[in-house]
Amino acid sequence: MEKTILLRFGEIYLKGRNKQYFEKILLNNIKFALKNNNFILSVTRGRYFIENYLSEEEDEIIEKLKRVIGLHSLSRAVKIKTDIEEIKKASVNFAGDTTFRVTVKRADNSIKISSTRLSGEIGAYILSQKPNLKVDLFNFDKEVYIDMRENGFTYILSDKIMCEHGMPVGTSGNGMLLLSGGIDSPVAGFRMIKRGVKLKAVHFHSFPYTSELAKQKVIDLASILVKYGMEIELYVVPFTEVQEAIHKNCDNRFMITLMRRIMMRIAEILARKSHCGAIITGESLGQVASQTMQSIYVTNSVAQMPVFRPLIGMDKEEIISTAKHIGTFETSILPYEDCCTVFLPENPVIKPVYEEVIEQEKKLDIETLIKNAIDNTEKQIITNNE
Ligand code: ATP
Ligand code: MG
Repeated sequence: MEKTILLRFGEIYLKGRNKQYFEKILLNNIKFALKNNNFILSVTRGRYFIENYLSEEEDEIIEKLKRVIGLHSLSRAVKIKTDIEEIKKASVNFAGDTTFRVTVKRADNSIKISSTRLSGEIGAYILSQKPNLKVDLFNFDKEVYIDMRENGFTYILSDKIMCEHGMPVGTSGNGMLLLSGGIDSPVAGFRMIKRGVKLKAVHFHSFPYTSELAKQKVIDLASILVKYGMEIELYVVPFTEVQEAIHKNCDNRFMITLMRRIMMRIAEILARKSHCGAIITGESLGQVASQTMQSIYVTNSVAQMPVFRPLIGMDKEEIISTAKHIGTFETSILPYEDCCTVFLPENPVIKPVYEEVIEQEKKLDIETLIKNAIDNTEKQIITNNE
């Protein structure tokens, strides 16, 4: 009897001509997630099995697999040679302590007994060994799922452990996430990772107004996201000069709008340089003054490439619950100052008028500010070393 882990993947994208492309990337991503574990990955008839691993690493392997985007669910299982007596004996351990049902799936035609009769026989055997249990075909606590494959092996599966679903990372191209230290933008990144986007990230940093700790927080957030997303190229852009120039030359009520438009321009330049097809932000409609429709319109109008805002229709509670689920929440709420709070005006314009913003921008040498910021940008690669 050999322990194995059965992996199931979402089927929607595994149809048609793209199937091989998606499957290849998914398999690579599984291998990448388990790069520090010994195992054999076998593929039979559209099912993947993780085999030959150290049993003390099983929990760790399962935790890592749960984060591989594109997997639908997994089950711990045992693999035995197809032999009815052996199957009966092994099944007893899968029946739990209260109610169970047995389900047999039989792809092996050499077994001449019907699946229904086999289920009955195995159920009866389990009851003979554990008389306190009850069979309940509808309200069962455990399902003993017996999969008799055509290759002479049978798998007995325990409960389904749900994974993240989604599309394998890398199947939808690259996206540049504007990553602040807040709660929202890591969640926005996660939502796009789940659509198959490989993330890159840009963070605007206002040293010395914001500390090294604020920058470290963003590195920490990227290090959590990377557990789902393989590797993230993080660009840290010095933003102080831009903020000081706006503060000195422009009407301060437009501070946030003007900053956002410059952030967007810089993000787009970095995105193009690093082969991204879209920009991603953590904006959610109406959450703050800079996220009204008018503000988003004025910021958005500098961008040529698509800007994805996966949180636009989500409320804070929903965003927080995802942040907790992916493990970024605790880091996001650490109280380090954010670059946007440094020169925050008391009365920001909530509905900026496009023409007025353009007038304000004329007071800045935007090209030079952008060039200086990009020339001094630091790039680092965040990898998942688990
Ligand atoms: P978050 O929780 O993601 O910080 P927020 O609710 O604080 O969002 P804003 O501060 O208005 O909202 O920021 C809106 C979006 O702009 C963020 O989700 C993020 O994508 C981007 N952003 C804001 N500040 C920065 C920054 N310093 N560096 C990179 N991106 C930023
Ligand atoms: Mg913020």
